[in-house]
Amino acid sequence: MKTALVTGGNRGIGEGICRVLAERGYDIFFTYKGGIYDGEEQFRNEMEKAEALVQSICNEYNVKCFCKEADFTKEEDVEKIFQTAVEKMGEIHVLVNNAGYGIEGKLRDTKSEDIDKEYFVLLRTPLLLMKHAANHMIEKEIRGCMVNIGSVRASRAFPIDCIYGSLKAGLERATQSVALELGPYGIRVNAIEPGCIQVSPLKEMVPFYENMGRNIPIERTGTPRDIGNTVAFLCSDDASYITGQTIRVDGGLLLPA
Ligand code: NDP
Repeated sequence: MKTALVTGGNRGIGEGICRVLAERGYDIFFTYKGGIYDGEEQFRNEMEKAEALVQSICNEYNVKCFCKEADFTKEEDVEKIFQTAVEKMGEIHVLVNNAGYGIEGKLRDTKSEDIDKEYFVLLRTPLLLMKHAANHMIEKEIRGCMVNIGSVRASRAFPIDCIYGSLKAGLERATQSVALELGPYGIRVNAIEPGCIQVSPLKEMVPFYENMGRNIPIERTGTPRDIGNTVAFLCSDDASYITGQTIRVDGGLLLPA
């Protein structure tokens, strides 16, 4: 039995990744932010939704699934979460750094504390989780895989995404160094650059890209499963000679016109 730790697995792309990996027989441990610091009621609502997803994954795919809240802007939560995942699953074979968000706005208007928070979630946490996963995999002699979720905005600058774009570029660059470090241990590390992925009917990004003069050649937005399928491929034996790479999954969005 193989196991996967997926950050931000309770919704959107992360849920798609959890579902595809569970379909392929992985036991899953996912994290969610859950509003633990936003008050009791918010926390209970998010926890109930996450628990419902756990049940749905267990029943639909006949695997084990666990979840735990972790706010990656909080130092202590990052340190605890890997240990909790190991306690629940014994071994971690796959780490997917997916949790993330982006504040859009001009750099001139951005507060330094907002930059710090975004840095904690988008870059610092993935680096620390890769560190913990690497030590765990090496100690247990697991020839595991790590996948980092970047963004097309790492490769192409758009206005209003200076912080997000540069942190995602940092994550994709880190992927290469960590792949070099861990290759000799049989651990592969790759990244995915999603394009315009529809995660909620309310979050329609196509007009944003159209306004930037970019259309999607495949003529549809991506789905969380499109990203989940790519994660599953990268973690499979079919990808056993692929490491340190970033695979763009964007329906051709960034192709030169
Ligand atoms: P969603 O907003 O749907 O989900 C974001 C996930 O990250 C949720 O699970 C959320 O938890 C979690 N998260 C947010 N902030 C924190 C935090 N402070 N601590 C811990 N967890 C947190 O986003 P998407 O599914 O769209 O995005 C997933 C990843 O894909 C992100 O890294 C994003 O940057 C990247 N991406 C998305 C694209 C898209 O078009 N959708 C395009 C390119 C990249 P909770 O639900 O509890 O708040």
